[in-house]
Amino acid sequence: MKNVVVVGSGPAGMMAAISASKSGHNVTLIEGNNRIAKKLYITGKGRCNVTNDKSIENFFDNVLTNKEFLYSALYTFTNEDTKKFIEDGGTKLKVEQGDRVFPVSDKSVDIIKSFEKHLHKNKVKIQIESKVVKLNVEDNTIKSLTLANGKKVYGDHFIFATGGASYPLTGSDGKLFDEFKRIGHSIVKLKPSLVPVELKDKWPISLQGLSIKNASMALYKGDKKVISFQGDFIFTHFGISGPIVLKISRYIFEGNDYSIRIDFKPALDEKTFDLRLQRDFQKYKNKDLKNSLDDLLPQKFIPVIIELAKINPEKKVNSITKEERRRLVECFKNLIVSVKGLRPISEAIVTSGGVNVDEINPSTMKSRIINNLSFAGEVMDVDAFTGGYNVQIAIFTGFLAGSNI
Ligand SMILES: Cc1cc2nc3c(=O)[nH]c(=O)nc-3n(C[C@H](O)[C@H](O)[C@H](O)COP(=O)(O)OP(=O)(O)OC[C@H]3O[C@@H](n4cnc5c(N)ncnc54)[C@H](O)[C@@H]3O)c2cc1C
Repeated sequence: MKNVVVVGSGPAGMMAAISASKSGHNVTLIEGNNRIAKKLYITGKGRCNVTNDKSIENFFDNVLTNKEFLYSALYTFTNEDTKKFIEDGGTKLKVEQGDRVFPVSDKSVDIIKSFEKHLHKNKVKIQIESKVVKLNVEDNTIKSLTLANGKKVYGDHFIFATGGASYPLTGSDGKLFDEFKRIGHSIVKLKPSLVPVELKDKWPISLQGLSIKNASMALYKGDKKVISFQGDFIFTHFGISGPIVLKISRYIFEGNDYSIRIDFKPALDEKTFDLRLQRDFQKYKNKDLKNSLDDLLPQKFIPVIIELAKINPEKKVNSITKEERRRLVECFKNLIVSVKGLRPISEAIVTSGGVNVDEINPSTMKSRIINNLSFAGEVMDVDAFTGGYNVQIAIFTGFLAGSNI
């Protein structure tokens, strides 16, 4: 039996603490905040999309960074195991669109309660308001941790599950990465992943708050198409956000030659959409153009798209020229916006980058550099799309770290 210290009470740390305790160790879970799992509480807009029900192969299609590193961890503790674990803790789960798994109550706090039940049952000691600021290492072995209040924490084995650097108010502030570097680990440069996108164009500002359902977005670097996604997005005061924007953001790196082409009617090809527009024009032929597009677009968007197509909104529909109609079709089917950049890492759903996984054993999550150190969760250079994958990664890497001390 070892004295195990787990730092960070997100899903990775809680799971590591529970599995270490189940393996017979004496475990203390240390958290900088005054309560556990602060980030988990806000996940999934307060509903916590705790995992995804897809088959394991499909699950991996949604992992963005270092999926090979995660193979043995996911096969050791699968999404099925996660569901059972949460339900055994007393929280019933349901599966929604896209195989996303949520608590039936739609309350993330119930997911946290399940974890708490397991922590309690397995006699994990929880120490809150204990921010680790220093790792004291001798002979490649951690001897103790220093807390912000100057106190020291001793143990035989240490698991760091301190998360990335996104939403720092939740406690995951990324400050320990310098310490990991100082003791010999390399850190893959942190970058916001799954983050809203700022645009150079000013017109989206007037549409802030407007959600668009089922559009298609294609990211271009110069003239080269990088990737495209179909789904929902929202206009904001700085540009665009929402599910497909977060996905696209993952493919935007440095440089300012990125643009996004938006297709507001992806179900219709350009020719079919043009015919549809002609039918509407026939129906509303005596109306002003500004009063003829309600069947196609939300009201708020109509004056904007007419201006982008450079047509007089007061013009009668029956006098719209073929060229004007062509410009309108172009705005519906291929509206180009210029990317200014990504919002900061503090606003990202997930951090890309972190402790280099080449220095971590994928079967045990143990450091290859420090003898009595393991990592779990987002602190490592792993990340995935939205859909419950990131919490699931935290859970299965936590399980592996805790059960292999
Ligand atoms: C708004 C938002 C919504 C999200 N929704 C979802 C979702 O629905 N589904 C999904 O799969 N993913 C979602 N994610 C991503 C998911 O929350 C994270 O990937 C996941 O929480 C990572 O778990 P973790 O345990 O590795 O780290 P974290 O949950 O970040 O936990 C790390 C813990 O370590 C503590 N800590 C950090 N430094 C120290 C220190 N020096 N000393 C002591 N303690 C420390 C922190 O206070 C924190 O409690 C969302 C993220 C955000 C920001």
